[in-house]
Amino acid sequence: MRRRLLLAAVGLAVLAAATALPATARAGTWCGGTAESATDRPDVVAALSWHVVYAYPSDGVDRFPQLVEPILADLAAVDAWWRGQDATRAIRWDLAALPACTTGIGALDLSAVKLVGDTAAFSGSGDRYGRLRSDLAAAGFTDPDKKLLVLYDGAFDHSVRECGIARTGFPATGGADSLAVIYLDTNCGAGLGGGEFPAVAAVHEMTHAMNALADAGTGQGPPHACPGDPGHPCDSPNDLLYPSSQAGTPLASKVLDVGRDDYYGHSGSWWDVQDSLFLERLDSPDTQPPAAPPGLTARGIPGAVLLGWQAAADDIGPVFYEVFRDGVQLTVTAALTYSETIAAGETHGYVVRSRDAVGRLGGSTAIRFAGGIGVVGAAGQLLADTVPPTPVARLRARINRVALLLTWSAAIDAGGVAGYRVYRDDRAVATTRVPAFSLPVRRAAGAWYVRPFDRAGNLGDPSPLVTVTVRARVS
Ligand SMILES: [Zn+2]
Repeated sequence: MRRRLLLAAVGLAVLAAATALPATARAGTWCGGTAESATDRPDVVAALSWHVVYAYPSDGVDRFPQLVEPILADLAAVDAWWRGQDATRAIRWDLAALPACTTGIGALDLSAVKLVGDTAAFSGSGDRYGRLRSDLAAAGFTDPDKKLLVLYDGAFDHSVRECGIARTGFPATGGADSLAVIYLDTNCGAGLGGGEFPAVAAVHEMTHAMNALADAGTGQGPPHACPGDPGHPCDSPNDLLYPSSQAGTPLASKVLDVGRDDYYGHSGSWWDVQDSLFLERLDSPDTQPPAAPPGLTARGIPGAVLLGWQAAADDIGPVFYEVFRDGVQLTVTAALTYSETIAAGETHGYVVRSRDAVGRLGGSTAIRFAGGIGVVGAAGQLLADTVPPTPVARLRARINRVALLLTWSAAIDAGGVAGYRVYRDDRAVATTRVPAFSLPVRRAAGAWYVRPFDRAGNLGDPSPLVTVTVRARVS
């Protein structure tokens, strides 16, 4: 879903064009000086969070050194504004251990990224959002636990009258594919650093990306959704999410959901941005991250791998688990198991990470599994045989006057077959190391099957049944 923040008066924006750089830029608010990082720095707090990226096209100019202070001034205004609107919540920013400080908005982990695309790639009316998403992914910004606020610094076509864009996406607790983008060109970026339009645009798009009004129009929903534009409320121009805003509008004049009935702190059953895990819950007693989930195992089941772990400790539950395969998040679950199909010989690295109910991330635990083989090390060597042998395919029974002879095809196991259990009428009657077994004919009657087991004790599936009947003899 596309969300647009329109400039209601294009003329006004053009008039403002000469003051793209603020006259009142504050200094010394960012603790990183002018150090640029094209990647996400190590996190101070592990939690779902907002990461901010300053981005410019490949043929653009890196104005990070000039813009970093006004950007910080606006984000500080956004941070203070949100706390002022709701004393129980704060935007959870991605912070870094910067040289001058490690807490507060001054420690914001602000990245500066030169995009692969040039000005033309982002200036037309094409899929700018998708292009930004893919360019940022190529630059390494793929963490599903972070939403990105992108400050795009490049010229673009203003005929579309759009100063920001965001995409909503459920589940609301995940960050993947949720960008909030604002443009810092001469029209939309005018007043940067003054707590005006760019700050309004930033928090407007961030609120969209936290799924405000995203499920409007499906039965019961926000009462003031705009006709024909259900992603915005139309009850008041002062509302943060009103569809358009004037250049020069101070953030201080905006209200987070006028009437608290459409998207924030409302009493309806639809999604409430106040519940977003990308907001810090200042009123929650849950202050500690969960521990890593202990006891991660990976076992082979027919055609699949079954991951299992034990519940992670946390000061206040419940705990959820993020499951990753080769760095890609597969699911977030409250369960203690996860399975997926895996072909024989296919190897993947799995990670399970704990996450508590307020969005704090705990430790993670990792395991490598090769389909049909078991748990393997980095070099592919077998560490633990957690895959049972292949079942016995052909079980044959031969009977003569004195004995029953059972034979079967040998099972296969990466760690080695240790033997076979022989069953009659679902009761184990013998264990043998070789694929053959015999016993006196007087004990031959019954339904027979065989299960192989490996050196690690994994029991394979049963062979097909062979039913033996013994006729009574008259002598
Ligand atoms: Zn909007």
